[in-house]
Amino acid sequence: MTSPRLQALTEQVAERELDALLVSNIVNVRWLTGFTGSNAVAVAGPDTRRFVTDFRYLTQAAEQIDAAWKREVATDLLQRVADGIGEEPLRLGFDDEDLSVRLHGKLADALPDNVQLVAAGGIVQGLRAVKDAAEIDAIRAAAQLADAALEEVLTGGLVGRTEREIALEVEIAIRRRGAEGVSFSPIVAAAEHGALPHAEPRDVPIRSNTLVVIDWGAQLGGYASDCTRTFATGELDPRDREIYELVLRAQQAALTAIRPGPTGREVDAVARAIIDEGGHGEHFGHGLGHGVGLEVHEGPRLSKQGNDVLAAGNIVTVEPGVYVPGAVGVRIEDLVLVTEDGGEVLSGLPKALRIVG
Ligand code: ZN
Ligand code: ZN
Repeated sequence: MTSPRLQALTEQVAERELDALLVSNIVNVRWLTGFTGSNAVAVAGPDTRRFVTDFRYLTQAAEQIDAAWKREVATDLLQRVADGIGEEPLRLGFDDEDLSVRLHGKLADALPDNVQLVAAGGIVQGLRAVKDAAEIDAIRAAAQLADAALEEVLTGGLVGRTEREIALEVEIAIRRRGAEGVSFSPIVAAAEHGALPHAEPRDVPIRSNTLVVIDWGAQLGGYASDCTRTFATGELDPRDREIYELVLRAQQAALTAIRPGPTGREVDAVARAIIDEGGHGEHFGHGLGHGVGLEVHEGPRLSKQGNDVLAAGNIVTVEPGVYVPGAVGVRIEDLVLVTEDGGEVLSGLPKALRIVG
């Protein structure tokens, strides 16, 4: 009995001429095995299926890990991995994006001489970028929950409440609706504060006649959502309205470019060209988007450095922004599933400029 994920990983391991891969990143372990605890490693290859955790997770592992895996319990997981290796020559891949230099050194010391450690980072992350049906359902549900939570908070209005109050209410509404929590601390940033893409909510009341960036997401069933809307709190000055319309145009153009085939860089360039033409190229300093799954930031990247080719089953954000220092910021972000012939937006809230007093 081999799950499709384990099967896919085994093929990648063989393709790279490895005998097995040590999966040390706990999120990768969860994706591969279904284990939701906080401490475990897995060793997987055509002839190897080992799962090692500590004694706290004995019962949980028995419930969550299927019979394809040999379960082992130890205090020192990497020592246990080394101790359980046979005498045959072995090329063991490890995730050099995850394993620290210190742990790598420790592992190398513990391993017998017949084992060759080979840097093989990104294999599981690459597989994780293409979601299966259950993952798509989970992310869709997280997005819907997050939408409903924000709508609930907006009914209380924005003007006169502080950014921190709004952020806290979003978090409470998300949890009350059954999520494990937020997928990241909500960003609520009004007026000139919105010009900081990763603004920390302040104890400052939101004023009327300005823009408020709200970036929020839920974590539900292990999976994240991520969405941004920028609201008006009344009559806007023409500059702010113009920037909003520019970002919206760039966002919509990039959405129509989402399909299997282009690289992340190519989709990024679609939005960037529009913002450049609008005279705000220098005010769009971050990438267009990122993959979302078990983690809120994962592959593929949509940015100037995005070399990955979009594939059906990717779930990515499309989130252009314009940030004018000291003046104003606008970001509009949707979560999008790449389908066989285009994209399906999973974020539900409308994007025409909305006034919330
Ligand atoms: Zn976001
Ligand atoms: Zn995002």
